[in-house]
Amino acid sequence: MGNEHPSLKTLEDLIRIQSVNPFFGEDARGEWEIAGYVERRCREAGLKVHRQPVSPGRENVVAELRVGHPENALLFEAHMDTVSLGSMENPLEPTYVGDRLYGRGACDTKGSLAAMLHAVEECARNPEQLSSDVVLCAAVDEERAFEGILAFIDSDVSVAGAVVGEPTDLGIVVAHKGCARFRLTTRGKAAHSSVPHEGDNAIYRMAEVMEVIKEDVEGGLADLDHPLVGPPTIVVSTIRAGTQINIVPEECAIEVDRRIVPGEDAREVLDGILKTLQERLHGSNVHFDAEELLLDWPLDTPPESATARCAQRVASEMGLEDRLHGVAYGSDASKLQQLKGVPSIVFGPGSIAQAHSGEEWVPAEHVERAAEFYAGMVRGFGLTQRGG
Ligand SMILES: [Zn+2]
Repeated sequence: MGNEHPSLKTLEDLIRIQSVNPFFGEDARGEWEIAGYVERRCREAGLKVHRQPVSPGRENVVAELRVGHPENALLFEAHMDTVSLGSMENPLEPTYVGDRLYGRGACDTKGSLAAMLHAVEECARNPEQLSSDVVLCAAVDEERAFEGILAFIDSDVSVAGAVVGEPTDLGIVVAHKGCARFRLTTRGKAAHSSVPHEGDNAIYRMAEVMEVIKEDVEGGLADLDHPLVGPPTIVVSTIRAGTQINIVPEECAIEVDRRIVPGEDAREVLDGILKTLQERLHGSNVHFDAEELLLDWPLDTPPESATARCAQRVASEMGLEDRLHGVAYGSDASKLQQLKGVPSIVFGPGSIAQAHSGEEWVPAEHVERAAEFYAGMVRGFGLTQRGG
């Protein structure tokens, strides 16, 4: 490509650096190398940079551009880890097909990170245009347990608003779902399958548990429909039981993913489900053990917050759609909003449909436009905050 936008050049560099979350397989290299790249770029731009240790070998990069408006500081946050390389052809070799740029992480979320890097570099060149300080946090571990953003939230860097980079098709997202994930295990008694009455089949016990989930738990969810993100959902997504065809299984375990909507609390939801199961199964001989796997917060940023209003203004000035959206997937934004009280939006190039897929790509034009949007947010955020 002849007149390639600098943000695309950056994105190509980022795609070439393998940064698969270290929990996703032996070949995963984690975020160390990509963090070095982000750190170097931010230092070259003249930002104050520090690495925040999160766990061994894993560090957030936090870069600050201070222009004398700390009370209005705006945070850009994007995660550095990706899902596994999977079945992608040439996942680490950025490849253009028409306007599409292919590569692992192209849309989730290196496209956002590249556009944010470009925006902060541009801001650093024109500090007199800024109405707020800018902080960039390139975080580890979004794809697994959000350790990176949780560490950042614990730090003493304070911000007044945040833009989190994830593929939103250049739409402004102010609400998304969270989740409560858990494992349930039933236990019975093993026996030879020629004398099943001497055993106690754990699968049959689990069948009763699942019946309650299907009828009593899933049944009421449609009533909790949320205007931006739709109703909560529940899925029994894995089941494991049995060792051999001629043995009555003594143990059965399922994993369940309940997506929660703004207004719900993951822990209360999980407790409620366990209570329903206990009540419905009371008096039967079905007992189960429950293990919490992951609780994640929903995003619920007020439309009247300066972050949302500034985003709408910038989008409409750029000729982009300025409606506020909700999405079903999660992001680091909900932690910033729910735990640190920072009004946060999600905005980025590409579509979630291509994230985590065997065909990950991002429209090149989206990356340029996202860079323009992020820079516009920095110019306008402080003014919006001050009531402009
Ligand atoms: Zn992502």
